[in-house]
Amino acid sequence: MNIILLGPPGAGKGTQAQRLVERRGMRQLSTGDMLRAAVKAGTPVGLEAKAVMERGELVSDEIVSRLIDAELTAMGADTGAIFDGYPRTEAQAQALDEILAAHGRKLDYVIELDVNEDALVERITGRFTCANCGEGYNDDYKRPAQLGVCDRCGSTEFKRRPDDNEQTVRTRMAEYRAKTAPILPIYEARGIVHQINGMAEIDQVTQAIETILAG
Ligand code: ADP
Ligand code: ZN
Repeated sequence: MNIILLGPPGAGKGTQAQRLVERRGMRQLSTGDMLRAAVKAGTPVGLEAKAVMERGELVSDEIVSRLIDAELTAMGADTGAIFDGYPRTEAQAQALDEILAAHGRKLDYVIELDVNEDALVERITGRFTCANCGEGYNDDYKRPAQLGVCDRCGSTEFKRRPDDNEQTVRTRMAEYRAKTAPILPIYEARGIVHQINGMAEIDQVTQAIETILAG
């Protein structure tokens, strides 16, 4: 199975992708995570992407499509793929069609997380993750049960993304509206788009996704 999770920054794509990985043994292909890893490792891609990401703008289509292709090549042919944060432009949507075909895969579902943008800024500027296991938290909605200790792995190290500040978030939202939202009609024409309410509780969103995938 190959699915795209679509929605503006902070809609919860990463959280839901992680759950699908745990429940279904699928693989999360997050171009944001891949780019952050490249920045951290100081690779040529990372050096090129760093400043662009800090401004909240989009990295070049060639770079992200290459990352996705490499990741699919490294995966088992029967492992399902969850595309998270990709495609983000019409050119990337076209590239994905070609890449999937080259890997003998086809797109089954595009799941759009419907959200209220005003609430998103608060969600994003309040979010942080465990530096050890990557579990996501939020100052307002999901604090660790014991202050300063990860619920999942017990680590006491947390981190925040440098692009999760208000100004960069506004740019990321604008990029989403201008470049990413316009790819929806491509998939609507194929009848594979399902919209769900991304403002519901995390578990309810997961349930809604499971219902779609079971259909
Ligand atoms: P979010 O969805 O919360 O904005 P991501 O982790 O998906 O965050 O992406 C962070 C940043 O990485 C983006 O703002 C952009 O600069 C870059 N990026 C990630 N995926 C892509 C992509 N498919 N195309 C272009 N740039 C990307
Ligand atoms: Zn942890």
